[in-house]
Amino acid sequence: MDDIVVIGAGQAGASLVAKLRSLGHISKITLIGEENAPPYQRPPLSKKYLLGEMEVERLYLRPESYYADNHITLLTNDTVVAIDRADKVVIAGGQQIAYDQLALCTGSVPRRLPGAIGGELGGVHVVRTLQDVDAMAPAFVEGARVLIVGGGYIGLEAAAVAASRGMQVALVEMAERILQRVAAPETSDFFRALHASHGVRIREGVGLERLTGETQVTGAVLTDVTELPFDLVVVGIGITPATTLAEAAGLEVDNGIKVDAQGQTSDPAIWAAGDCASFPYHGRRIRLESVQNAIDQAECVAENMLGAGKDYVPMPWFWSDQYDCKLQIAGLNHGYDRVVARGAGAAVSFWYYQGETLLAVDAMNDARAYMVGKKLIEMGKSPDPAVIADAEADLKPLLRA
Ligand SMILES: Cc1cc2nc3c(=O)[nH]c(=O)nc-3n(C[C@H](O)[C@H](O)[C@H](O)COP(=O)(O)OP(=O)(O)OC[C@H]3O[C@@H](n4cnc5c(N)ncnc54)[C@H](O)[C@@H]3O)c2cc1C
Repeated sequence: MDDIVVIGAGQAGASLVAKLRSLGHISKITLIGEENAPPYQRPPLSKKYLLGEMEVERLYLRPESYYADNHITLLTNDTVVAIDRADKVVIAGGQQIAYDQLALCTGSVPRRLPGAIGGELGGVHVVRTLQDVDAMAPAFVEGARVLIVGGGYIGLEAAAVAASRGMQVALVEMAERILQRVAAPETSDFFRALHASHGVRIREGVGLERLTGETQVTGAVLTDVTELPFDLVVVGIGITPATTLAEAAGLEVDNGIKVDAQGQTSDPAIWAAGDCASFPYHGRRIRLESVQNAIDQAECVAENMLGAGKDYVPMPWFWSDQYDCKLQIAGLNHGYDRVVARGAGAAVSFWYYQGETLLAVDAMNDARAYMVGKKLIEMGKSPDPAVIADAEADLKPLLRA
């Protein structure tokens, strides 16, 4: 049987190796990660862990003993610097590790502010790794002034943690509105109001001109020419897929490592899954940045590495926690032409339709709307929007209709 090497010991890499063993793969498995920690979950990094309400061990996806117990060689603090496809070896830590099949689960890299506008000053942070969060957490103290750059989920979650810690929080979003890339105006309005009620000053349509300070950040000049003092800056301006290694090895890349429906790259011995992989979906190519995708795609790839020949069909779901609000999202809203609101106040959901077809649901503090919406989307059913809009109407019968 084949020796398998997996590069990237994150959510996808850990899921892939575990699935291989659970499917009965008995040959050598090596999981190589550049971080100095066993595979861990990232979502709490901008939520409970940053708030100081979660121990580091609870982040770990599996007990450290799991890997040895299952004869999986886990190499941490070890960066793969090259893939030699002709000889089928990867080069890491000065050694060559041979593979019959290789999986790339390299994740993504946070966008940083350019050095020319102060991106390299002390006190400027990104939120991707445990190390990033351990570096910024001590500065999350009552009264400190923080600028959050970027109004996506990571920026908003960091803002919620900061406000909950009694910090003075300002957030700038260059686009017209927060969450513009991922959600409808209704969802943006909901979160803008939620943050305002916690004292966060959100400025939309305003970018960052430059940060000020000699070695440590002391403030920011915004594109509307306001200059404000800050003690720290958190940058949440998106990520780019980690494709450098794949590109250097000559694999095809197209907004991510290009894979077919089964997760195979342009080299039949090499596969990819998770944030780094771009895959075909309804006539286009997409990349998903979520735990659901990392796990499900990695598990599908594990099956295919063992010959299953199975297409990956994503069933997207995502969540975000801000203050006491739990947002749950089912489906992908790409291409929606109208939004139907259900409920009002703190428990509300927004249903995205394209014509008569239900595409996605954003549910705030409404687990039932999320669950029913998710099932309907998975079943390919699209309920009458008038029923959805009627907050008194029971949703469950829709699943039987
Ligand atoms: C702060 C934060 C909050 C999030 N919240 C949510 C959420 O609420 N819900 C949700 O669904 N998703 C959330 N996500 C997204 C989710 O965590 C990612 O989509 C998921 O981790 C992707 O898994 P992955 O394995 O593809 O990448 P990662 O988990 O990033 O793992 C990739 C690993 O590969 C390693 N690596 C890269 N190159 C090399 C190399 N050359 N050699 C060795 N190792 C290498 C990296 O260091 C990294 O450890 C969040 C992400 C962040 C950062």
